[in-house]
Amino acid sequence: MNAISRREMLGKTSLVGSSIAVGLQLATASPEPLPGQTLQPTRPKLKVVVTGGHPGDPEYGCGGTIARYSDLGHKVVLLYLNRGEWTDKPAYDPGPVRVGEAKKACEMLNASPVFAGQIDGKAVVDPAHYEQFHLLLESERPDVVFTHWPIDNHADHRAISLLVYEAWLRMGKKFALYYYEVSNGEDTVQFAPTHYVDITGTEPRKRSACYAHASQAPDKFYALQEMVTRMRGIESGYKQAEGYIRHVQSPDFALPGAL
Ligand SMILES: [Zn+2]
Repeated sequence: MNAISRREMLGKTSLVGSSIAVGLQLATASPEPLPGQTLQPTRPKLKVVVTGGHPGDPEYGCGGTIARYSDLGHKVVLLYLNRGEWTDKPAYDPGPVRVGEAKKACEMLNASPVFAGQIDGKAVVDPAHYEQFHLLLESERPDVVFTHWPIDNHADHRAISLLVYEAWLRMGKKFALYYYEVSNGEDTVQFAPTHYVDITGTEPRKRSACYAHASQAPDKFYALQEMVTRMRGIESGYKQAEGYIRHVQSPDFALPGAL
């Protein structure tokens, strides 16, 4: 069997409209085992990028799913639009604390933090930032990207959703694109999931990762988010679940339950 790259395989899989599980099985046919040797099937590892307006957003919206991807051996990056720093109050800069919290949360989820270099509360969406973000996301070579649902009461959340969307278009809609919800009502509005991930087993780690953001009132915000995951669980038949909206033109694979 000719060698086939992960990206080629994923592309072929999406073209025929089948699940990634089928593609993965096809990819396990080689190489031939040596005499006396039993080779275990090797699954290609995905690159998962979970974007968020601020440190903590990916963890609150997708932490259970992130843990599931990590447990499966996939590489996960949490890409934050800013470091939680403020420029209008130089006497108080929470940036270093927020970055430390993000790194701690990422360690708990076995993910890596990346920062896009914008400023908290002052997100810019213009041609220069579209290009900068496109190059940054392209450098990560993602197979799957999660971002905020764009109808959101926080401008930074709307901004990164648009930046991701433009990058997705510029990259030929090649990676799977999912939207997530965070702090419903206060932030995300009018969110009706198309897909669910069972996070019953990984919710404790999600909780720990969210509480790693100790400066951000986790008692208040995690309680709100847990109500959401319990409601999504009722909808989908699990104890707790995270809900997602897959872009209608996205490749149709890559949530942990299908892997
Ligand atoms: Zn946020």
